[in-house]
Amino acid sequence: MWVDSHCHLQLADHEPSVLLERAPDVDWLVAPGIDAASSSAALQLAARYPDRITAAVGLHPHEADKWSVERNLIIEEARRSAAIGEIGLDFYRNLSPRDQQLAAFTDQLEMAADLDKPAVVHCRDAFREIFDAIESTGTGERVVMHCWTGGPRWTRRFLDLGAMISFAGPVAFETGETVRQAAAVVPPERAMVETDTPYLSPPPFRGEPNEPARVALVGKALARVWGTTVGDVARITSANARRVFRP
Ligand SMILES: [Zn+2]
Repeated sequence: MWVDSHCHLQLADHEPSVLLERAPDVDWLVAPGIDAASSSAALQLAARYPDRITAAVGLHPHEADKWSVERNLIIEEARRSAAIGEIGLDFYRNLSPRDQQLAAFTDQLEMAADLDKPAVVHCRDAFREIFDAIESTGTGERVVMHCWTGGPRWTRRFLDLGAMISFAGPVAFETGETVRQAAAVVPPERAMVETDTPYLSPPPFRGEPNEPARVALVGKALARVWGTTVGDVARITSANARRVFRP
């Protein structure tokens, strides 16, 4: 049995019930919000499927320009969630201005610390800035770096901060050599697996909308990197996710 540590079930085209049914090997999953509305949808899903869905609440860096408008709503929702996320910085696509991304990110990291909840972090072309924010807020032990794409050097630095590293489809991509080199330096007890549904389908489904049933393909890629069995990867990453999100 697997835990899909990052699955936007509320953003998928198919009904959540259909995708859950198609994923009998997924014990439970974490559904992160990207703004107030999708965070509320995640909370509703978690209420409907308490055994299989855990909600995270947060404002995604792409949506950071909404922070001043949605801040109070998100703080309210966050009190009822298991985790804060998806938050972070995306200096690759820059869909929100960088200063607003930084403000929303640091505010929400502090919120996670205040509420004593883990934070799920999106990091794209902003390793230095995210590292500094986590270090200065002292939140490293409660952070999950989601869809990790850093190389071995940054991976070691984030591990030193205390972060958990969650791997998604890219670790299985033909072009995923850097991510696999990173995975090789992550001790299994610090790793998780995720689909990031509906994005980043692993091969042989690349380009199609992703779904939780494919988390095993991510786990298989990790098993190859670590030279261990798929069963071990499922068991260890599931225990890690439980420790962080369902203590
Ligand atoms: Zn995501």
